[in-house]
Amino acid sequence: MTATDLIVNVSTAKDYKLSLQTGLFINNEFVAGTKTIDTINPATGEVIASVQAAERNQVDDAVDAAEAAFRNVWSKTSPQERQRLLLKLAELIDRDTEELAQIETLDNGKGISMSRTVDVPGIAASLRYYAGLADSITGKTVDIPGTFSYTRHEAIGVCGAIIPWNFPLMMLGWKLGPCLATGNVIVVKTSEMTPLSALKVAALAKEAGFPPGVINIITGYGAEAGDALARHLKVGKIAFTGSTLTGRHVMKAAAESNLKKVTLELGGKSPNIIFDDADLDKAVKWAHFGIFFNHGQCCCAGSRVYVQEGVYDKFLEKFKALTEQTNVGDPTDEATFQGPQISQVQYDRIMGYIESGKSEGAKVYLGGARHGDKGYFIQPTVFTDVTPKMKIVQEEIFGPVVVVSKFKDVDEVIDLAHDTTYGLAAAVFTENVTRAIDVSNRLEAGTVWVNAYNVLNPQVPFGGYRQSGVGRENGEYALDNYLQVKTVRVNLSL
Ligand code: NAD
Ligand code: MN
Repeated sequence: MTATDLIVNVSTAKDYKLSLQTGLFINNEFVAGTKTIDTINPATGEVIASVQAAERNQVDDAVDAAEAAFRNVWSKTSPQERQRLLLKLAELIDRDTEELAQIETLDNGKGISMSRTVDVPGIAASLRYYAGLADSITGKTVDIPGTFSYTRHEAIGVCGAIIPWNFPLMMLGWKLGPCLATGNVIVVKTSEMTPLSALKVAALAKEAGFPPGVINIITGYGAEAGDALARHLKVGKIAFTGSTLTGRHVMKAAAESNLKKVTLELGGKSPNIIFDDADLDKAVKWAHFGIFFNHGQCCCAGSRVYVQEGVYDKFLEKFKALTEQTNVGDPTDEATFQGPQISQVQYDRIMGYIESGKSEGAKVYLGGARHGDKGYFIQPTVFTDVTPKMKIVQEEIFGPVVVVSKFKDVDEVIDLAHDTTYGLAAAVFTENVTRAIDVSNRLEAGTVWVNAYNVLNPQVPFGGYRQSGVGRENGEYALDNYLQVKTVRVNLSL
């Protein structure tokens, strides 16, 4: 197979013409494998294209390419040059926004307006933010009489990233930015559900002028390509985003191989707490966005809403009115807010949770059924009358399903909020600043929003308490994941 055979031409539902790369991007070339994976359009259930499924030896090829690039080129490249390349890539992403957005919507099912305004600008923003930090990485000096010591913040070398399907472009940006800015090289394994947009970014990285081997993007199955990367002896660090179960596996693979450094961004079951004194219309708007944005497929989704008893009925009434207006449908329509779930498997999982909610005695206040007759669409679903130990209250559903319950006072709601194994995010709605700060400080969560939900920026750290993760991405904190500190001690008079 030649590189041109690996390009597949397709048209979207609105007749937008796309040329899709389907090869493995290793050493700045698109190459074939021996196995393929079909990627599906979740709005129709139809196959879009087949991409290569990397096997272990191809993961080795990608790692070898990365290692050579690090040794021969990238470790000698100035921070200014790394900065220039990251900015150039961001500029090319801006230039090709429409094409990238169309690919993301086709492969993932998110509304085209979201792809254009959230996902594509999101990856560009991460690259720009970390480009800005590339020339600010410095060590410290430590003077002690008789010795002089200094630290160097050195790159690790070959880093691996395993990313999920819910934000394929943004998660790519969260990994590429800090990894490359700090002078490392990378092998990314994308999700088998959404391989296409990252391959377009790969082509842009080559056009931007990144040297061969600095960025390698492979498609493949988790159990084979993902596992091979996680236990590769030449990979010094692995960054994973996905389910808690797989995160555990990645950490174990790292432990069993070379003790590579591990960061994990995992799941959540995040509480959204609304007090009597909240600006109710604002709280309703953000609670809706908190759970239904990206069809509930957000690790930080506000999937448990706790409303204080004084405003509970009123909240439900307004929340229902707003949720009923949710635009569910064809993701290629500009007005669509909620598209299909990613796959038949996820569809079945979510419907299974809805059934379990019903059988455990919760009340379906709204939705609870399939939307339409093709693709993997689910109605926005609101459960009430839930009890804390129900599966739908404890487990991450990763779909457009929210449980709403009532509470009396602060202590009670903090206990309820903490009654899961997770700790990724939380939100507090109140007009009382003292209460906002007190509750935020008491919540065990990596991010607490006050009077907002799902607001994310590359400058602001993000990550989990408890079983929601290890380490922080975004912000200056993320740089530490990709650097190792060397101490040099010079004897002056000992
Ligand atoms: P997953 O964790 O299995 O997949 C995430 C990534 O890990 C994919 O690239 C996958 O190929 C890879 N992977 C799978 N098995 C692997 C292994 N053994 N070794 C190395 N890599 C491996 O998630 P999923 O099955 O696609 O979704 C299941 C659930 O995970 C969802 O319902 C949701 O609860 C959660 N999820 C969370 C996030 C998040 O952003 N935190 C993202 C996706 C899914
Ligand atoms: Mn797909």
